[in-house]
Amino acid sequence: MSVATSGFEPAYLRLLRSGELEQRVKLAWRHLEDCDLCARYCRVNRLQTVKGAVCRTGERAVVHNYGPHHGEEEPLRGRGGSGTIFFSWCNLRCVFCQNWEISQKGIGREVEPSELAQMMLDLQGEGCHNINLVSPSHVVAQILAAVAIAALRGLRLPLVYNTGGYDSLEALKLLDGVVDIYNAGHEVWRFGNRPSVLSRAELCGGQSGSRQGNAPPGRRPDPG
Ligand code: SF4
Repeated sequence: MSVATSGFEPAYLRLLRSGELEQRVKLAWRHLEDCDLCARYCRVNRLQTVKGAVCRTGERAVVHNYGPHHGEEEPLRGRGGSGTIFFSWCNLRCVFCQNWEISQKGIGREVEPSELAQMMLDLQGEGCHNINLVSPSHVVAQILAAVAIAALRGLRLPLVYNTGGYDSLEALKLLDGVVDIYNAGHEVWRFGNRPSVLSRAELCGGQSGSRQGNAPPGRRPDPG
């Protein structure tokens, strides 16, 4: 039995019914004008420019690829695979990133929220067990917009927020009640080269953990 047919209801459907999801999308889009959507707090108007934005991402999300991922942690991949969407660019810019062409050169394609929504629906149609959003921190607004569209079109899979952990409390509040599973990697901890990363990740881990329970630290999949 797939998640889509098991009677499971993802968190975002309740917000869709109440109208709150639509309000979250509008609010998130306003955050793009003075961006505080991750812990970098660049305060850039991303609707006009990417200059000064650490993530180099403007109004549209950039996607490198998407598809069923069978190398994800077992509880997420199941038999049908985790429906993974790999976002290009990243707010962390780690010097050791194994996917630096994607995270720091931005290889990928700009997509409208409706295209992102269709990717989610395609993954559901392929039998994936969840929508696994990889490197999502800098595209929270675009994800919310896509989820609102996809939910109206029949998306019923749980959302996995597969983050490096450098999120802002503002973004996590926007995601509260939308995301079902937080999978925080925190891979920068061992290097200790940015003390603020640890303090903010701890803070945001507390925020997400208070809602959904903390998932164990997870490996970020190689999109190869
Ligand atoms: S998402 Fe983060 S890195 Fe990107 S512009 Fe906003 S605050 Fe800066």
